[in-house]
Amino acid sequence: MSKQPPSSLECQTADQLQYPHDFGQGHKRKAEQRATLVTLLTLITMLAEVIAGIVTGSMALLADGIHMAGHAMALGLAALAYYLSRRHAHDRRLSLGSGKIADLAAYTSALLLGVSTLWLIYESIHRLLTPTELMPQEAMIVAIIGLAVNLLSIWLLSGQHEHHHGHSEHAHEHHEDSNLRAALVHIMADVLTSVAAIAGLAAAWLWGWTWLDPAIALVASLIILRWSWGLLRQTSGVLLDREGPDTIRHAALEQLRKHDDTTIVDLHVWSVGQGAWTLVAAVVTHGNTTPEEYRADLCAIEDLYHPIIEVNYCRNCAHAVD
Ligand SMILES: [Zn+2]
Ligand SMILES: [Zn+2]
Ligand SMILES: [Zn+2]
Repeated sequence: MSKQPPSSLECQTADQLQYPHDFGQGHKRKAEQRATLVTLLTLITMLAEVIAGIVTGSMALLADGIHMAGHAMALGLAALAYYLSRRHAHDRRLSLGSGKIADLAAYTSALLLGVSTLWLIYESIHRLLTPTELMPQEAMIVAIIGLAVNLLSIWLLSGQHEHHHGHSEHAHEHHEDSNLRAALVHIMADVLTSVAAIAGLAAAWLWGWTWLDPAIALVASLIILRWSWGLLRQTSGVLLDREGPDTIRHAALEQLRKHDDTTIVDLHVWSVGQGAWTLVAAVVTHGNTTPEEYRADLCAIEDLYHPIIEVNYCRNCAHAVD
């Protein structure tokens, strides 16, 4: 009977080769706190509007309160995603870390926004075709409250592009936080509709132009739809493991080509969360470069986690070893 090999703990080489299972999601982001704060602000506004709506019998206030509930849900989803991805940062059931929780949340949020905007488009067209009597004063108050809350929310959320590590200036497109972007898009969409409502109502008030309100709402809807589409494209790309950015790819190629005995056979780079990437590569070496050297070089790349490399030794080429 042949002897059993030692376990990965008994073997020193195997022990040294253990991968750190950190995918860069373990630290608390400032954005998490901000998203929670904005969710609370939205919930308070929602409650205030619903109560005021019931007490005063204002349908406009009540409707906006219900609308705010939708926002609280979207913003709450963003806050929850930050929390869950941090909490499960080292959960081994998630093969490549918890980073994509945020992208899943942002995708869902964008989808909900897109669908609700389709309804807004339908409603605007309907009101353009069959103008109804507006209650400008009441609706104006609601629009101004909404605008104030949304501007405060944007102020709270924005400027949160944080740097998790000091590094030289490089292309920062790969750092985009889609979760934060989804939350911001929701609020920006609302600012747009609030401004549209205020302008439309003022026009109805001053000149009796009842068509302007639904017309601006229609234009605003198309802009929001575009934002949702952009967000859906970005997040679905991450969820479907679309090939990563050139910055990471070039960095990997550069590291592998440092060894001039190396032929690169295969390279896949993809996202494992906000500003975090992983790769799988296969090389053929015509010299003495060891797997450990390749791995150490790849591990030196910033924002790249858990790279896997297959090293093959060529025995066919004329210049191959032995
Ligand atoms: Zn591993
Ligand atoms: Zn960076
Ligand atoms: Zn060869």
